[in-house]
Amino acid sequence: MTSRRHRVVVVGGGFGGINVTHALARADVDVTIVDRTNHHLFQPLLYQVAAGILPEGLIAPALRNVIRKQANARTLLADVKDLDVHGRMVSAVAPDGRKLALPYDTLVVAGGATDAYFGHEEWAEFAPGMKTLEDARHLRSHILSAFEMAELANDPAERAAYLTFVVVGAGPTGVELVGQLAELAHQVLPREYRSVATTEAKILLLEGAPAVLGAFHPKLQRYTQRRLEKMGVEVRLNTMAIAMDHDSITVQHPGGEERIPARTKIWAAGVRASPLAGMLAAATGAETDRGGRVVVMPDCSLPGYPEVFAVGDMISLDQLPGVAQPAIQEGKYVGKLIRARLEGGTQAKPFRYFNKGSMATIGHLSAVTESFGMRFTGMIGYTMWGSVHVLYLVGWGNRLAAIYTWARALTFTHNRAHRVITFEQARYEVTEHAATDSPGI
Ligand SMILES: Cc1cc2nc3c(=O)[nH]c(=O)nc-3n(C[C@H](O)[C@H](O)[C@H](O)COP(=O)(O)OP(=O)(O)OC[C@H]3O[C@@H](n4cnc5c(N)ncnc54)[C@H](O)[C@@H]3O)c2cc1C
Repeated sequence: MTSRRHRVVVVGGGFGGINVTHALARADVDVTIVDRTNHHLFQPLLYQVAAGILPEGLIAPALRNVIRKQANARTLLADVKDLDVHGRMVSAVAPDGRKLALPYDTLVVAGGATDAYFGHEEWAEFAPGMKTLEDARHLRSHILSAFEMAELANDPAERAAYLTFVVVGAGPTGVELVGQLAELAHQVLPREYRSVATTEAKILLLEGAPAVLGAFHPKLQRYTQRRLEKMGVEVRLNTMAIAMDHDSITVQHPGGEERIPARTKIWAAGVRASPLAGMLAAATGAETDRGGRVVVMPDCSLPGYPEVFAVGDMISLDQLPGVAQPAIQEGKYVGKLIRARLEGGTQAKPFRYFNKGSMATIGHLSAVTESFGMRFTGMIGYTMWGSVHVLYLVGWGNRLAAIYTWARALTFTHNRAHRVITFEQARYEVTEHAATDSPGI
């Protein structure tokens, strides 16, 4: 595509990138989104793919489809490798290895975040995280394979290790994951297994801090812990992972050290900005914070480079948390700012965040939400959580399909319809040391 119009390159088609793009729909520009996946991923519902509730297409519509009505936008499947802010060029590599050079007039980088293992990167092999669709598929295979192997195991210790699931980190993702593991073990699977009592599964939630859901009000923290314990989850606070291997995890708690045999460990303990943040900082001389996030100006631009912006999880601005709303609002703001500049607008106002609150789901018909000083739990919290999440899915088809699937899976049948694994996948999960780059999953 050759163009004489103002060229905007957007790196990343997540919450930040897609909102920049939509905000430029009526601008006199050509927008190119470069993403190394072909989809716009709704990460808040990834755990439901890992738990076999939702099919992946519902939470990951094709980017092409998302922007199909926006004639001034296109998307390319490529991995961005370099940002040349002096030559105004983005370098990327396509899946077949061909190199792409994408010139820009305005650049927006929205690369998101990745898992952080706090100096123990080797743990990624034993305790995968959940950031991408591949991660969720991999976890689903791993969890289902563990139950299958427990059914086959004759040795009680081996069976117990297969039936022990440890989630490290009690933020919203950790809480959601243990909630689903408890539902699988106690409600969905018991009637389907013959040799093993899946209700014997041990589900542990480890948290280094003295409470679950650190960012929430203490009342909601206590409610969440009580609910989880009622569902059969063992919540261990003030407990840090200090070592792990294929078969176990060793933790440090006030009582000392303990080795817990467990074939399934899941990492939900920390995030770090995408490497694109460091790349951008190195190129522009901007600073990064402890989480590797690039420090941006109040209008989300990079210091000294008014034509280069960054938004979402990879930036440090006003101590905003790495959740969807800042990314969405920053994306919209930057899109409008670019348009206003091209139309000769006056100096832009700095970005202002509008805090709509936070929420986390725990399990069957139970969630916690806090919004505008009001707090809700249980069924009311769950209804609010469900409504907001459905609303933010892309497309009415996906929204209706999600409601239908939830009604079936969570309310009436207690079934999880999306539980397909093959022999090869299970073999991979139980013989290879769980890795994050498994092909064919
Ligand atoms: C499991 C999980 C649950 C969550 N739950 C919630 C929740 O309940 N509520 C909430 O508000 N927030 C939640 N979040 C956080 C929320 O999803 C993020 O804050 C939000 O997605 C950030 O948007 P973003 O645009 O910065 O990044 P992302 O949405 O992550 O998008 C980044 C995009 O950049 C692409 N990319 C990265 N590197 C490159 C590269 N080198 N080349 C090309 N493309 C690249 C990626 O493929 C991706 O599409 C959750 C996150 C996770 C992982």
